[in-house]
Amino acid sequence: MDNAKNFYIDGKWVAPAAPRDFDVIDPSTEEVGAVISLGDQADTDAAVAAAKRAFGTWGWSDPAERVALAEKLLAIYKARSEEMAQAISLEMGAPLDLARAQQVGAGSWHLEGFINAAKDFVWDHPLGDWAPTERTVYEPIGVCALITPWNWPMNQIVLKVVPALLAGCTMVLKPSEIAPLSGILFSEFMDEAGVPAGVYNMVNGDGAGVGSQLSAHQDVDMVSFTGSTRAGRLISKAGADTIKRVSLELGGKGANIIFADAHEKAVKSGVIRCFRNTGQSCNAPTRMLVERSRYDQAVEEATAAAQSVTVGPASEEGRHIGPAVSELQFNKIQDLIQVGIDEGAKLLAGGVGRPENLNRGYYIRPTVFADVTPEMTIYREEIFGPVLSIMPFDDEDHAVAIANDTDYGLTNYVQTGDQEKLRRVARRLRSGMVEGNSQGFAMGSPFGGYKQSGNGREGGRFGLHEFLETKAVSGWG
Ligand code: NAD
Repeated sequence: MDNAKNFYIDGKWVAPAAPRDFDVIDPSTEEVGAVISLGDQADTDAAVAAAKRAFGTWGWSDPAERVALAEKLLAIYKARSEEMAQAISLEMGAPLDLARAQQVGAGSWHLEGFINAAKDFVWDHPLGDWAPTERTVYEPIGVCALITPWNWPMNQIVLKVVPALLAGCTMVLKPSEIAPLSGILFSEFMDEAGVPAGVYNMVNGDGAGVGSQLSAHQDVDMVSFTGSTRAGRLISKAGADTIKRVSLELGGKGANIIFADAHEKAVKSGVIRCFRNTGQSCNAPTRMLVERSRYDQAVEEATAAAQSVTVGPASEEGRHIGPAVSELQFNKIQDLIQVGIDEGAKLLAGGVGRPENLNRGYYIRPTVFADVTPEMTIYREEIFGPVLSIMPFDDEDHAVAIANDTDYGLTNYVQTGDQEKLRRVARRLRSGMVEGNSQGFAMGSPFGGYKQSGNGREGGRFGLHEFLETKAVSGWG
């Protein structure tokens, strides 16, 4: 990758102000997969200054011009999708099939959703019949800092860059330093699409450096962040002095409520869904709640399902799961599995250590615990690995109480043959999303959390609104 060590600032690829190399580790092999640069204050300042200058024109551009740019980007994204799949697979360990279909696919899907939303968007309208001369006008918020994680890198980058662009904002993207290659490639796509100089900038760096500098920067109007609740808290504090808008998409501890009348494959698909992307999804259904009359059977089915999951290198095609992203995550997941055992959860499958025949790479054994209780650490903490906790419930009230007994509130799941029950339970769950009977969300659906899962909504017109100010104008004759 030619630009691995460069940043994209003011329409050009530039070297960092001071060189600071950083190794990108291939999690399948533990070898260095690429070397990038980490930026610092001078790079952050240059990128923010470019974005500030460009806002003067881009902020007033015709929305149709912005849609045309996004359409061009989509065409390039599709044409270069294999390069993107290879980059993601190398940097964060998604097996190639998953990288191609889901990791890369999520990006083009959201891009299309935003283009549709922007075409339909009404940029100003009368307040209402009672106030015909008052206009409500939507305008771009200004310079945005976009800070993204490593687990679904293109999904997250598209969910921020594209609505910011379509809203008329200018921006500085800081991809995850753990998985930065996809962000560098995406910046090449933006350049090829002909984004005007300064509208889109990309600086690599870590959280303590570029991440914090952007969050506190006087000339940044908004931070849109996806990542850990820990970092979300720090960013909110750093942005407070300049009263930035801070939009947060954070962690989760989703419950998957399986009623006795659920589909016969509900347990198996719940296990597979939890392990998808090696369990590294904020919306993973990591707590499986099963109605007591079906519990023993569910325990057997979950054990068999977990044992059928294979683990292997990201470079291989197939339906296996890849490694955890990094040594840090590997150690964290191993520790939590051990804590689960020590605290008395019943280990049904997996456990500590690597799977057989894999002695290098951050591979984790697909792990299932039964009889998990609220006192246990694994009931509460986001593990971010292929680790599922199962527990029984007695009735609807009990299921809702367990599901809501968490600081998080991102996605919950309900499986039942009774539509009335599904609606009732869905309304009572304190989360931004409730997936009913495994029906996936549609294009343009709002993605975001309640409670400590964050305060933002991404995707479609909801995502566009995140990057807009609302202005009231009277006397609009
Ligand atoms: P992380 O918080 O460590 O890092 C995310 C990004 O924030 C990186 O770019 C990092 O460099 C930056 N960062 C870290 N500390 C910072 C600071 N103090 N100031 C500014 N920037 C900082 O998270 P991660 O390990 O990359 O990602 C995993 C987490 O992301 C999980 O908790 C997961 O649940 C969450 N996540 C949430 C969503 C969602 O939409 N809700 C989606 C994906 C991931």
